Amino acid sequence: MKLQTYEALLHSKYRLSLILFLFLNLATALFFMLPINKGENLSFSLPATLIVALSILLLAFFLAQPDTKKPLLSLTSFIMGLLWAWLIVHKSALVFYFDGGFLLVSLMTIFFISAISLNEHLLAFCLHIAPPSLAVLTLDRGQHSLTLLFTIALPLIGFTLQSLMQRRSDRFTRRLLFQLYEEKQSWSDLSMLDPLTGLYNRRGLQSRLESLPDHHAGSHFMVLLDIDNFKAYNDNYGHAMGDQALARVSAAIRDAVRSRDVVTRYGGEEFLVLLTNVNAAIALRLAERIRQHVLDLEIAHRFNHRVSTHVTISAGIAPIIERDAAQAIANADRALYVAKNRGRNTILCWDEIYDKQPFSRPDEAI
Ligand code: GH3
Ligand code: MG
Ligand code: MG
Repeated sequence: MKLQTYEALLHSKYRLSLILFLFLNLATALFFMLPINKGENLSFSLPATLIVALSILLLAFFLAQPDTKKPLLSLTSFIMGLLWAWLIVHKSALVFYFDGGFLLVSLMTIFFISAISLNEHLLAFCLHIAPPSLAVLTLDRGQHSLTLLFTIALPLIGFTLQSLMQRRSDRFTRRLLFQLYEEKQSWSDLSMLDPLTGLYNRRGLQSRLESLPDHHAGSHFMVLLDIDNFKAYNDNYGHAMGDQALARVSAAIRDAVRSRDVVTRYGGEEFLVLLTNVNAAIALRLAERIRQHVLDLEIAHRFNHRVSTHVTISAGIAPIIERDAAQAIANADRALYVAKNRGRNTILCWDEIYDKQPFSRPDEAI
């Protein structure tokens, strides 16, 4: 699960809590409007009507706008709490023939609403129950203090403890998710790198190509490079020195181009450089710089550090036209092939061979 998905889940839980809270307030306020005794009329008290109106209004708003991220729960809970306190004061004046049970029932109803819908929102819970609790304690005038205090304290303590536990578990889940996300990210980064040279591999190149900004045609270039006679180098000095030479050549290529250019180990001793936002002259100059950097390398002999070995590199250059990177690579490959035929340690542009020489590689000309 992505971090955003987890945030979306929390948002959806928050929204559902609010909707449930409003619904329970609406239903309870409507119930409070019902006649107490048979034959009486509905009692439309102002606070009850306000609770109903506010609940309907906010319910309509949240149902119509599922994506809204307004943190209204605490504020709504407090306003509802005040209205409930008002309603209890109002109603208790009318039902003077009730015993203290009315206050207790009212209090338990408010706690019921809060406990069901605000079970993950301690602040909103407290804001909702505080005004009615104070109202009930005041109205009771100390007659049933112990019962009322118990009714208030027990759920409050239980709720606070439960909320603290929930918060701890939420923090743990969030940390775990974040860790997983970071690990996934670093695995994904690693899977784009070649372990020997630290350069991008083909997957890395693909990913960079996908995010390549659009420029006017021919402003990005592919340079395909291949170390000359590398098989002979391996045969002479051994595979381990071959590996060392590959690492040195990679660093030389990286040094020769700009940081925004993408350097890829394309195959065994083949490299592909994506030169971004350049023209043909600059592309050629950068490729020439690579060739020179590689030529200047002094690769120490593994067993005799006073002896230096050398490698050369050939390259083919082609522009990317209409975002067709594969075609550009194929064109650069053809230019590279001709560069090899021209004696190696050579750079050729695709348009230098284009037209002049109807051309196919031997392996294609079957
Ligand atoms: P050319 O100038 O035509 O490119 O000749 P070449 O010898 O470089 O070409 P060829 O394709 O015949 O040989 C490529 C060699 O590169 C063969 C292989 O042993 C070597 N090679 C490829 N990958 C690695 C590697 O990871 N480490 C080492 N040490 N050698 C490698
Ligand atoms: Mg090769
Ligand atoms: Mg080679």
